[in-house]
Amino acid sequence: MERLLDRFLSYVSIDTRSDEDSIEHPSTGGQLQLARLLAAELDRMGLNKIHLTPQGYLTAELAANSDHAIPTIGLIAHLDTSPEVSGQDVKPRLFRNYDGQDLVLNPVQNLILKLEDYPELRGYVGQTLITSDGTTLLGADDKAGLAIIVTLIAHLLDHPAIPHGKIMIAFTPDEEIGRGTDFFDVAGFGADWAYTIDGGPVGELEYENFNAAAARINIRGINVHPGTAYLRMKNALMIAMELQALLPDQSRPEYTRGYQGFFHLNKLSGSVEQAEMNYIIRDHDRSELDRKKTFLQDCINSLNDKYGPGTVVVQIQDQYYNMREKIEPVFYIVELAEQAMAELGIIPLVKPIRGGTDGARLSFQGLPCPNLFTGGHNFHSRYEFISLESMQASVQVLLRMIELLAISPVSG
Ligand SMILES: [Zn+2]
Repeated sequence: MERLLDRFLSYVSIDTRSDEDSIEHPSTGGQLQLARLLAAELDRMGLNKIHLTPQGYLTAELAANSDHAIPTIGLIAHLDTSPEVSGQDVKPRLFRNYDGQDLVLNPVQNLILKLEDYPELRGYVGQTLITSDGTTLLGADDKAGLAIIVTLIAHLLDHPAIPHGKIMIAFTPDEEIGRGTDFFDVAGFGADWAYTIDGGPVGELEYENFNAAAARINIRGINVHPGTAYLRMKNALMIAMELQALLPDQSRPEYTRGYQGFFHLNKLSGSVEQAEMNYIIRDHDRSELDRKKTFLQDCINSLNDKYGPGTVVVQIQDQYYNMREKIEPVFYIVELAEQAMAELGIIPLVKPIRGGTDGARLSFQGLPCPNLFTGGHNFHSRYEFISLESMQASVQVLLRMIELLAISPVSG
């Protein structure tokens, strides 16, 4: 456990921002650099079957040390950090025995993590807080996950008296740009189920995410000189606005939360002649997502009735689904985490993810995969922070889960 902080600080020193515009796998070289460093560390620790693919997927195995039939679980974290904020030359700042005041991240640039903006800081008095210097992100998302998993494995190797089944670990690239499972070999990984260690504050436990679809809309107008347009012009831009006006006003990201789904217009461009609109459609309930897709299609049909067939053309494509439907049949994998937390006095914070996760994709590839906390706050921000004690709590929860599994292996 002592080396948890050192590990975390060493991983955040490598710039591993992923890059959406790259066609390489992984999208950036820094991720491979970190993967190689981790592979060497796992090798020194004595892990088996360490495998790093050219695409930047690092997997390794901790062999079982018990004769009992214990399920094989997988632990997954991602190597990359968000491209939204710089991850170059991260200079972590340590605030030991936090005093509950505003945190001055950078006195020169006057960058301050303020209690009034982040009241959750109050919960960390007396702990060791880690931030960046305010000019970059910290990278706790998800280098905390990496450090937690490596520390857990090191602990198990140092304490062979703790019985455990086979444990598979995977460190994956390009999660932040939605490519984190493109080359994940689920069959080769061979775990019965897995957990991504990629969540926020202590207790966070997620096994529900959006069902997602994307709609690409093309509108064909007719342009004539505005002076002679009477009953002849069809303005594609006006039709686009009409379509948006037909959609429920409150079903937009800025007016929804929790389990409320939405239509999100994220691209609108065009001229009188032609216009394009892109929507993403989200809902935790799959049949509700289907209703939203049908509703959009109905709106488009009515515009085509009004302006002529083929005026508005739409392509709707499903993107990903709510992992809950894959988790429910094996719900003991969530209960295992809840029980471990309860025994450690941690209240599980179960909340629906308003997005997708690598775990959701893996769940549909046959590897059920809820998400567990790392302890971090303000991911993808220069105000990202995490406490050492939170990361330690994550290690403890995982350790307890592994112990519980060895004592009374659940039957799948
Ligand atoms: Zn993450």
